[in-house]
Amino acid sequence: AKETGRNAMRFFDPAMQTVVVERAILEAGLRKAIEGSQFLLHYQPQVVENDRITGVEALVRWQHPQRGIVLPADFIPMAEETGLILPLGNWVLETACAQLAQWAIRPELAHLTIAVNISAQQFRKPDFVEKVLAVIHRTGANPNRLKLELTESLLVDNVQDIIQKMAELKIKGIFFSLDDFGTGYSSLSYLKRLPLDQLKIDHTFVRDILYDSNDAAIAGTILALAKSLGLEVIAEGVETAAQRDFLASVGCHAYQGYYFCQPLPIEGFEKFMMTA
Ligand code: C2E
Ligand code: CA
Ligand code: CA
Ligand code: CA
Repeated sequence: AKETGRNAMRFFDPAMQTVVVERAILEAGLRKAIEGSQFLLHYQPQVVENDRITGVEALVRWQHPQRGIVLPADFIPMAEETGLILPLGNWVLETACAQLAQWAIRPELAHLTIAVNISAQQFRKPDFVEKVLAVIHRTGANPNRLKLELTESLLVDNVQDIIQKMAELKIKGIFFSLDDFGTGYSSLSYLKRLPLDQLKIDHTFVRDILYDSNDAAIAGTILALAKSLGLEVIAEGVETAAQRDFLASVGCHAYQGYYFCQPLPIEGFEKFMMTA
């Protein structure tokens, strides 16, 4: 009885209670946000040589009625835990595809691709392929301009099932990029089997690339591996010209990061394109 008494005491620990209450408020807020369309996308340019912009990554933000713009780190984990990532992920995909359809009729923007982050939970749904194709159909987006970013967390699933889904989308022209590459569990055998188009070097390897020989070696290895597998590579989190130059010297050709441009709201991004 003493034991349970102690546990009960712990349950009513005021600090703990605050955490529980805060989480409940966050979850309720997130539900309302999805119903009330409080989300928006920011777009971060992806560039190749000579700073030419080939596309963007769509990054979701929560336009909170009291808190202002909330970044994904403060709500994506909760969305994942509660399954709200599914309706949120659908909204992101739908919005990105609608944007592609709008750009398609503007000569100076029609070449741009949009990369969309896909949570493992989303991809895992049996009707994922149908859902994506339905969104493309509904919005009129060109599937050749759509890139889906998957993460290695997906690879705990049945690989044959993953390959099947990717293949069905790939024949429609959709691109696949493996995000945060090198931070997770993917084995080389998976890499060879998955019908990927691109590996994304995680920003944690880019950050200290000039000073940390391990990070430089990892980046170089990813580039060599990608080359031998016939995959493109993009480095994320590039903040300085020196980082870009180093990456270029080891064979990287595509970049994303604050050095080129931060993620921008749609108006800001389009203006950036017009003046670039
Ligand atoms: P991520 O997919 O790795 O996205 C890159 C993150 O790096 C973005 O953070 C971006 O703003 C940030 N970033 C860009 N350039 C630089 C740079 O030069 N230096 C540094 N230090 N950071 C840079 P953000 O927008 O806060 O997104 C964080 C994470 O949230 C994303 O990481 C992604 O995992 C997740 N996320 C964002 N949007 C979505 C979405 O629509 N769906 C899902 N499932 N996840 C999303
Ligand atoms: Ca990403
Ligand atoms: Ca990433
Ligand atoms: Ca990341």
